[in-house]
Order: sequence, then structure tokens, then C-alpha cells
Amino acid sequence: MNGVNNMQKINDVLQMGREILSKSNIDTREARLLLAEALNVLYGDLIKISSCSDEEVAKYLVMLEKRVNDIPFAYIVGHKEFMKLDFIVNENVLIPRGDTEILVEEALKYRKNKILDMCTGSGCIAISLAYYLENKADVTAVDISEEALHVARQNAKKNNVDVSFVQSDLFSNVNEKYEMILSNPPYIEREVIGNLQAEVQKEPILALDGGISGLDFYERIIPEAKEHLNENGVLILEIGYDQAENVQKLMSNNGYKNIRVVKDLNDNDRVVIGEK
Ligand code: GLN
Repeated sequence: MNGVNNMQKINDVLQMGREILSKSNIDTREARLLLAEALNVLYGDLIKISSCSDEEVAKYLVMLEKRVNDIPFAYIVGHKEFMKLDFIVNENVLIPRGDTEILVEEALKYRKNKILDMCTGSGCIAISLAYYLENKADVTAVDISEEALHVARQNAKKNNVDVSFVQSDLFSNVNEKYEMILSNPPYIEREVIGNLQAEVQKEPILALDGGISGLDFYERIIPEAKEHLNENGVLILEIGYDQAENVQKLMSNNGYKNIRVVKDLNDNDRVVIGEK
């Protein structure tokens, strides 16, 4: 049968995938999810397929190998859902987290028209705001990393929204004023980073490292944002579960009013909001 591609039974391939993942203590449900990606079919359609080619199996094995090496699932498949939208991700951007949807939902309640997202990464915050404000808001997104901005621009296009992207070290290249500034800055204490899950450590250190105290970015963003907010403008910050007190204090020391904390679905403090 020269020249004819060998076919393998899907169930055998899937079983192999499960065994490879289980040896590395990775959730075996990912075997099926990865196989759907390798075969380029919807997860729900996998059931209709009974066999696949050697080439497809080889592709699947490469994905499994990456997963065993702690590459996050989202980087392997190249995208991640956030706010019911799909975002391209790679190793240059933090993978969008469910917790961050809390920040977007709080921001949407204000229906502001001129918005700045500081440290945008994949662009997930800025883009979902632009999308759910029906592209009527003027949204600008900033990141220090050109590589991240490259991903964020692709995401704006993919989701059909207009967002202006600016490369800037925090506010250094930002000249305008906004009605709302949001940020999910790096906030992990530097010495804790080495203890995070192996797969989190595959994410950009630039997006995680909040300095020795974890508060470095809040210490810069909170005073500088005040210079870039209109009167009654709103600042919304994602925080680590144990940072609410310190971040609230920074806001009140800088003269913000109506400061409040919003919890995530796990009942952890997750967002701090203040008004100028
Ligand atoms: N929430 C992320 C984590 O727990 C950290 C994101 C950040 O530093 N902004 O890994």
C-alpha cells in the first residue's frame, strides 16, 4: 500500500494521549481537547470521527509533548476565551484569566467613553470593553512590550473593534486625559514567582513581576493615573488577593474618593476602584 496514508483509530490515539498526560499528572480531559485542536475540529464534532492520519497523530504528539513540559494549554492551541470572545495568545502575553472578567464587568457598569487600558498584554481588557460598548467608546491600550502589542493588534482585528495601541513604559508616552483608566499590572511578589505552578512560570515574567513588595506598579500607576484622569474619572485596578488594604491606602493617600473593593467568584479581593 505504498503512498497510502496509514490511518489510526481515534480511540487508540485518544487513549495514548490520556496515558501520556496522566504519567505527568496532567488532567487527562485535556487529551480530548488537544486532539480536537490537532485535527482542527470542534470538540463536539470529535465523536463523528473514527480515524486519523499518521501526520495528524504526529501533530498531536508534538502538542502532548509540549503539555508534558508544562507549556500552558492556551499557548499550545494558540487562543483563549475571555468575556465570551476569542483571543490569540502566545508566550509574549499573559493568558487571560477568568478573574479579570470581574474588572471588565465593573468597568462596563460606568459606560465611560474615553478609556485607557494600561499594561494591556493580549488586549483582552481593552478589546472586550470596546466590543461590549459596541465600538462607541474611544479605547486606548498601552504596553511596554512590542511583542505583546503585536498580539493585541491581531486580537482587535479578530474581534472587529477599534482600539488605539501605544507602546509606552506606563504613562511615559501617554499625553491625553481619560474618563476611565484600568489596569491589570504585574503584581506578584518577586520572591513568590519561583513557587508558582510550573505552567504559570512559562508566562512572561514581565507580566507577573510586581517587584519585591508586589506593589511596584500600583505605586507608579495610582499617582500617574491621577494626572491622566478627568475630574470624577475612574481608576479600576486588578489586585492580588492580599493586596486590597495596601492598594486602597495608596489610592486614599493620593486623594482618590469613593474607594471600594470588589471580590472575585472565589470570594477573594480582586479589584479596587477609586474616583478622582
Ligand atoms: N492573576 C495572575 C496570576 O495569578 C497574575 C496577573 C498579574 O500579575 N497581573 O498568575
